[in-house]
Amino acid sequence: MIQSSARLAALPGYPLAELPAIKRKLIAAGRDVIDLGAGDNDTPPPRVAIEALKAAIENPANSKYGFQQGNPEFRRAASDYVFRRFGHRFDATTELVPLIGSKEGLAHMPFAFLNPGDVAIVPEPGYQAYLGGTVLAGVEPYVAALRPERGFLVDLEGIPAPVLQKTRMLFLNYPNNPTAAVAPLEYLEKVVAICRKHGIVLAYDNAYCDIVFDGYRAPSIFEVAGADEVAVEFFSLSKSFSMTGWRIGFAVGRSPLIGPLTQVKTYTDTGPFLAVQQAGAAVLDRAEELTAPICAEIARRRDAAVPALRAAGFGVDLPKAAMYLWVALPPGVSSKAFSRHALEAEGVLVLPGSAFGPAGEGFFRIALTVPPARLIEAVARLSKALVGVQAAGGVGAA
Ligand code: PLP
Repeated sequence: MIQSSARLAALPGYPLAELPAIKRKLIAAGRDVIDLGAGDNDTPPPRVAIEALKAAIENPANSKYGFQQGNPEFRRAASDYVFRRFGHRFDATTELVPLIGSKEGLAHMPFAFLNPGDVAIVPEPGYQAYLGGTVLAGVEPYVAALRPERGFLVDLEGIPAPVLQKTRMLFLNYPNNPTAAVAPLEYLEKVVAICRKHGIVLAYDNAYCDIVFDGYRAPSIFEVAGADEVAVEFFSLSKSFSMTGWRIGFAVGRSPLIGPLTQVKTYTDTGPFLAVQQAGAAVLDRAEELTAPICAEIARRRDAAVPALRAAGFGVDLPKAAMYLWVALPPGVSSKAFSRHALEAEGVLVLPGSAFGPAGEGFFRIALTVPPARLIEAVARLSKALVGVQAAGGVGAA
């Protein structure tokens, strides 16, 4: 019998697999389902992206392989965006690489830098591509729990010395998915100091840097002095411009760090579709103007959902960034049982905290992907779901 690899078997089930299948069945049965699962906004992509893609697709040269160099316009626009946003200039040719979505680049990082016996620190709850890339590369993950009492910041000082000695990579993501936490610059300074001391590559995932509220500004890791020596920073056009399915992002870092990632990619892919890169350049050149209405809309949704959740007895912070609410469940209520009941009984899809790893237990995640009125309706249903699941014993496998 053919068997899948031991590395694949070592991975937990992907969080977005089971609930959407139930959702499809409910919709087929005529039920109204409010989907707050995937971080995939309902807002359309910018007109400028669509027009640029249409024009680019008419040019047969854009139907060729892009290879890793890709479209020079995209590289130029990405480098300019980082410079405008954060004041750091990365050479468009040697210090930047286009990605088929930032997930692809993040998952390839361990292949570029790590060897068997090395350790990669993976935050939990967290975006599953970090664990996936680490385990598939045959590298040992060290799961670092994000705790509410520490502001969901990875406690690097709490990592045992023997683990730190073997650690060669740290994944970090602020503004954070799923907790929506943000990291103060002083914290990032400590992180960079530890990475430099121990020779750890810092894979800094800044997918949500443009989704910010109330005047908050998400920093680049390169605002910390010395980060150049250790960091690769990942940007995504998915959330900033509602372009999740277009599969376009990029990474920046000094060439000794970008080079190995690019080399891995030459063996596994041939770069994003050139016409999509052209559209990416068009939106990056107008990023500030295009992201402002998306932020304003997500803030409106946040401001509708947070008071409603609190009134319904759920514990939730008012996030400064990202597009999620990380909502605490009453003690003893299993997040998996709650999410399943919320979907099956009330037609609301939220992700259980445990889907982001065991340390996510006790919470569920709401993605602010539908308008305020729909969110208010969803919260009313979630409130009923909580009563229902508690009446049933609040139980179920965690
Ligand atoms: N990083 C984080 C933290 C995410 O939540 C996501 C998507 O949900 C990504 C990266 C991947 O984004 P992309 O669409 O660019 O692959």
